[in-house]
Amino acid sequence: MNRVHNFGAGPAALPLEALQEAQAEFLDYKGSGMSILEASHRGKEYDAVHHEAMANVKELLGLGDDWKVLFVGGGASLQFAMLPMNLLHGDRSADYVVTGHWSEGAVKEAKIQGVKYSIAATTKEENGGFTRIPKQAELKLDPNAAYVHITTNNTIYGTEWQYTPDTGKVPIAADMSSDFLSRPIEVAKYGMIYAGAQKNLGPAGVTVVALRDALLEQCRTDIPTMLRYRTHAEKESLYNTPPVFAIYLSNLCLRWLKKNGGLPAMEKVNKAKGEVLYGAIDSSGGFYRGPVAKDSRSLMNVVFRLPSEELEAKFIAEGKKAGIVGVKGHRSVGGIRLSTYNAVSLDAVKAVVSFMDEFKRTNG
Ligand SMILES: *Cc1c(COP(=O)(O)O)cnc(C)c1O
Repeated sequence: MNRVHNFGAGPAALPLEALQEAQAEFLDYKGSGMSILEASHRGKEYDAVHHEAMANVKELLGLGDDWKVLFVGGGASLQFAMLPMNLLHGDRSADYVVTGHWSEGAVKEAKIQGVKYSIAATTKEENGGFTRIPKQAELKLDPNAAYVHITTNNTIYGTEWQYTPDTGKVPIAADMSSDFLSRPIEVAKYGMIYAGAQKNLGPAGVTVVALRDALLEQCRTDIPTMLRYRTHAEKESLYNTPPVFAIYLSNLCLRWLKKNGGLPAMEKVNKAKGEVLYGAIDSSGGFYRGPVAKDSRSLMNVVFRLPSEELEAKFIAEGKKAGIVGVKGHRSVGGIRLSTYNAVSLDAVKAVVSFMDEFKRTNG
């Protein structure tokens, strides 16, 4: 078996242990004589997986009893539409902080619906666009907003909120797709959290939505059944057939997270990985250049440029030969992006850093 160092942005590296566990019980799940993929979503085998996964998300994030955890299809992208659809009725408005491609996507879906919203801040029009997270003082917040939407980590631009904004009584609704469960969070400030699994949790196919009861009670009931948060909450995400395999495998990853010390331990490792990687960029004498402001650097997606696009192409090609894959920046921005999610080990990061040092030595 020859497993590469996978720095892909999503779908992305998964804990080897979780994959092996899935492999070991793939054909005969716990003596049932069938795979969990073949079992009814209403049977006892799957039911145990489903509820354990929900409980694990709650426990890891430290969510109280006033929260519901939902498993929804449609990707994080569907949440861009569901959130305003459920919560912005009548003359209720929401604030959006625009820090990159995905926050723009969230705004776009609110706009399509013709609901009321305002842009609390954006960093689009400076330094080539989206190279930092706005500071608290820059946020123009409406004290009567239904929610403040933020994207905690900007997967394409490599920026991440290093502080949780103070939004007064207004709950934060956060797209945490690319830094979900990577560090402890200040739960009290949030009302809604969502994350597509395929970045930092598990395989593609399921989106985790956590919603506080106080917000759930404000949700509309006169919209299509599958698009109501209330439907998924009341039926514990079993109104229709859930994406059983994605939830099952995500649960194996959640167990792995718990076993390895939960979010405080993840944060520690992720910080160590960031120090090694940003250290290599900062000490490269300008060969590797990170466009992101230091106070906004992401610990999940580390983006940087080389002196020329030719060298970037060579970096990608030679990396591949050295077993380092998924390093190409998003097509909209170019350059290099190393995604260092929870399942990417410090050893993998050290391997890419020695490759970077060697590449600079021979090409610098
Ligand atoms: C990838 C990504 C999305 C889109 O996720 P899908 O599950 O593909 O819809 C949304 N937000 C962020 C921050 C992402 O990284």
